[in-house]
Amino acid sequence: MVTINDNFQKLPGSYLFSEIAKRVAKYKEENPQAEVIRMGIGDVTLPLCDAVIKAMHKAVDEMASSETFRGYGPEQGYKFLIETIIKNDFNTRGVTLDTDEMFISDGAKSDTGNIGDILGLGNIIAVTDPVYPVYIDTNVMAGRAGDLLENGQWSKIVYLPCTAENGFVPSLPKEKVDVIYLCFPNNPTGTTLTKDQLKQWVDYAKANDALILFDAAYEAFITEDDVPHSIYEIEGAKDCAIEFRSFSKSAGFTGTRCGLTVIPKTVKARNAKGELVALNGLWNRRQCTKFNGTAYIIQRAAEAVYSEEGKKQVKDAINYYLGNARIIREGLQKAGYTVFGGKNSPYIWAKTPAGMNSWQFFDYLLKEKNIVATPGVGFGTSGEGYIRFSALGGREATIKAMERLG
Ligand SMILES: *Cc1c(COP(=O)(O)O)cnc(C)c1O
Repeated sequence: MVTINDNFQKLPGSYLFSEIAKRVAKYKEENPQAEVIRMGIGDVTLPLCDAVIKAMHKAVDEMASSETFRGYGPEQGYKFLIETIIKNDFNTRGVTLDTDEMFISDGAKSDTGNIGDILGLGNIIAVTDPVYPVYIDTNVMAGRAGDLLENGQWSKIVYLPCTAENGFVPSLPKEKVDVIYLCFPNNPTGTTLTKDQLKQWVDYAKANDALILFDAAYEAFITEDDVPHSIYEIEGAKDCAIEFRSFSKSAGFTGTRCGLTVIPKTVKARNAKGELVALNGLWNRRQCTKFNGTAYIIQRAAEAVYSEEGKKQVKDAINYYLGNARIIREGLQKAGYTVFGGKNSPYIWAKTPAGMNSWQFFDYLLKEKNIVATPGVGFGTSGEGYIRFSALGGREATIKAMERLG
């Protein structure tokens, strides 16, 4: 008899976005004339920039001729892209990396989800709360999360609350943890850590033989000087951290798919015999076995993000979203709300008004203002009492939404 991986049945349905869709659909059915503005999306809306489109067209043409056609590429990604990324995103910040310390992929969701393949099932996992759900759900699938408790948390996961009370800076865990997921600039709160604050985590990981999984998907939105773009800007991080990046939010690749993972050869963990093993080699083996590389056309498109023209065009798009973020921040503040994030991130995290929880405020915004935002509690227990606004929409709709709140 075939059996299933029972861990999958422990996962609750994806309640958050289906519940939002259900409530919006019901409201629209009852109020067909209402013009609902969606500020709940975590997807970009601007088209790919011209430099990227040109590079894709050129690469497509290469595929049409036997002289320039490309079949299977290296599982780790083409050197032309890896070298370009290291030079532009890392060397410029004082970080040196060997080309075999970077792995090109089809996105940061896959990589943050798959990285658990190379880690033992007995590791204690810590996540910030609220959190990007992929980190938790993939550990549930692997069997590291324990059981779902009544409060919505998992019995074996260590939660690190990030709330207004601690300035959205997670405290070091009191119990021993082995793997720590950190995402900064953060989704959903839009907040960041300074170099000193991130240094405390690197020091903790080194002192406790722990591994940091650092998700830098939003690094392109950083505007403030003291906020690290890469965890490797922090001394010691090359001994204890893996970093994930994505072209999705930075260059509009959500539908195009390209990301990368950095695993310095000095990051090690123990095998059953207690010997230290480099994670770089394990990830390389994992990728070579389960992944056959990102499409050549897409890697040429990603390379074009770093051309003179591409850099400028991508920056314009980021500034457009950051402009939206400022409009949202200021609009909410003017309307009397307490807000966080939105300065180094396309997300604004707002406190719900007194006496309203996340879902009550969601309903109020939908019915009274015809605005859809994302209830904070959907990202974790500590998200209760907050709601997330996304700045990744259009300018006109963003302005209109804030006028409605004003
Ligand atoms: C959007 C997002 C990503 C990017 O995922 P891709 O698979 O590269 O599109 C990664 N991490 C977080 C926290 C995100 O919000």
